[in-house]
Amino acid sequence: MSPMIELLRFRTAWPLLLVLMVGVVGCAVNPVTGQRQFVLFSESQEIQMGREADRDIVANLGLYEDEELEALIREMGARMAAGSERPDLPWTFRIVDDPTVNAFALPGGFVYFTRGILAHFTSEAELAGVLGHEIGHVTARHGITRVSRAQVAQIGLGVGMVLAPELQPFGEAAGVGLQLLFLRNSREDERQADDLGVRYMYQEGYDPRELSGVFAMLARASGAQDGDRIPGFLSTHPDPLERRDRILQQVETSGLELGATRVGRASYLRLLDGLVFGTNPREGYFEGDRFLHPELAFELRFPQGWRTVNARHQVQGVSPQEDAVLILSLSDAASAAGARDAFLRQAGLIEERRWSESVSGLPAAWGQFRITSEHATFRGVVAYVEYGERLFQLLGYSHFGVWEGRRDAVIAAVRSFGEVTDPSVLGVEPRRIEVVELPREMSLEAFLSDYPSSIPDETVAVINQLETGDVIPAGTLLKRVVGGPN
Ligand SMILES: [Zn+2]
Repeated sequence: MSPMIELLRFRTAWPLLLVLMVGVVGCAVNPVTGQRQFVLFSESQEIQMGREADRDIVANLGLYEDEELEALIREMGARMAAGSERPDLPWTFRIVDDPTVNAFALPGGFVYFTRGILAHFTSEAELAGVLGHEIGHVTARHGITRVSRAQVAQIGLGVGMVLAPELQPFGEAAGVGLQLLFLRNSREDERQADDLGVRYMYQEGYDPRELSGVFAMLARASGAQDGDRIPGFLSTHPDPLERRDRILQQVETSGLELGATRVGRASYLRLLDGLVFGTNPREGYFEGDRFLHPELAFELRFPQGWRTVNARHQVQGVSPQEDAVLILSLSDAASAAGARDAFLRQAGLIEERRWSESVSGLPAAWGQFRITSEHATFRGVVAYVEYGERLFQLLGYSHFGVWEGRRDAVIAAVRSFGEVTDPSVLGVEPRRIEVVELPREMSLEAFLSDYPSSIPDETVAVINQLETGDVIPAGTLLKRVVGGPN
C-alpha cells in the first residue's frame, strides 16, 4: 500500500481510535451513578473528541434544515441538559438529513436526531424521552465499547452499506469517511439511559409513559423491510418491547405524579407538516439498477443484480459475489486527462494502459491498473468524465483473479454514464409529510383510502402508531405522505 493511501486511512481512522478508547483507562467518578469508573480522558479531551466527530458527522451526513423543529429540539435539549448532572458541557442538538430511524449521542454532549426518527414520533413527549435517553448516555459517560462493520452498516444514515475492508484498496475513494462512529452501548448502559430519559423528560413536565410508545414504534419499524427505515437506533439495543414494558412498570411503581404531565401531540405534529420523508430523490435515486441524479442531471446503469447504495459523496455498487465494485464520485481535478494521470501515478499502483474514449459523447480519460493492498491484489479501470462544470470519477475494480469475468460488466456500466433530459426525472420532488385533521371519526382503513399516501399503508400506520381496526376520533391530527418519484 502506498504512503499516500496509508496517510488517508490514518487521517480518517484516528477519531475512531480516540472514540474507542473512551472509558477504557483511568479512573473517575461517574457524575450520574457516583460510582468510580474508568475514563481515559479529561472532560476537555472528551469535548474535543466530540467536536472532531461532530465535524465528521455534519460533513458526511449533512444537516436537515427546519427552523421550528430545530428550535424545539435545541430549547428542550438545553433545558434538559441544564437540569442534568453535567450542565456545563457544550451541549449541541442537531437534525441530520437522513431518512433512517435513528438518534445517537457523542461524548462531550453532541446529540443527533435523524429526520427519519422525527417523522416517526407522534408527540413532544416521545421526542423528549429519546432526547433524555441520549442525554443520559452523555451524562453517564457511556463510552464506545465496540465498533464493528455491522454497526457501521446499522448507523444507516444514508450509507446503509459500507464496503468491507477487503474490498478497499483505495483509502478514501472507497468511503471510509463515515466508518468512524458508532456508539455501541451495553444493555446495562441502555437501561440506565432509559431510566435517565424517564427522569429528564419528567423533570421537563412530560408524561414518561410516552417513551414506551417509542419502543413499540421502533419494534414495528424494525420489522418493516423498508430500506429507507433501517432502525439503527434499536438494533444494538435490548429488545424494544422488553424496554417498553420495563419503562411502564417502573413509571407505575415509582409513584411519579403524572396528573400534570403533558404529551404535546398536536403541537408536535403540526411541526411535521412538510417534513421530507424517506430518501430525498433530489440527491439521486435508483430505478432498479439505474441511478438517476436530478440535480446533476446524469444517469448511470449498474450491472444487473449488483447491490447498490447512494452514499452522500458517492454511489457504490457491489457484485453479488462481493468481489467487484463500481464507485461513482466527483473529482476536483481540473481535467479528465490530468485526473487520470494523477490516479495512475499513485505509488503502489501499476499502470496497465491509458486511453481516451468518450462516454455517451462526453470527453473522458481512461486508465487500467492493478494495485496490491494489505489484503489482496486488485485489477480495474478508472474513467474520468467531463460533464458540464464537473468531473466525474468512475472507478471499477475486482479481485485480480476474477477481473476477466467482471470487466465487461464494469466497462458497460461506466459507458452507461450520461446526461438525463427527462423532465419527470429532473423535476422529481421528495416525499413529504402532510398533516391532516380528521373531519370526522374514522377507522385507520378509511383514513388510508380517503387520504392516500405515496408510501405503503403499513408504513403510514407505523408513523402514526396506529393498528388495523383502530378508530380515530374527529379532530385528531394524522400524518400522510405525499409526492415523490413515481
Ligand atoms: Zn441508547
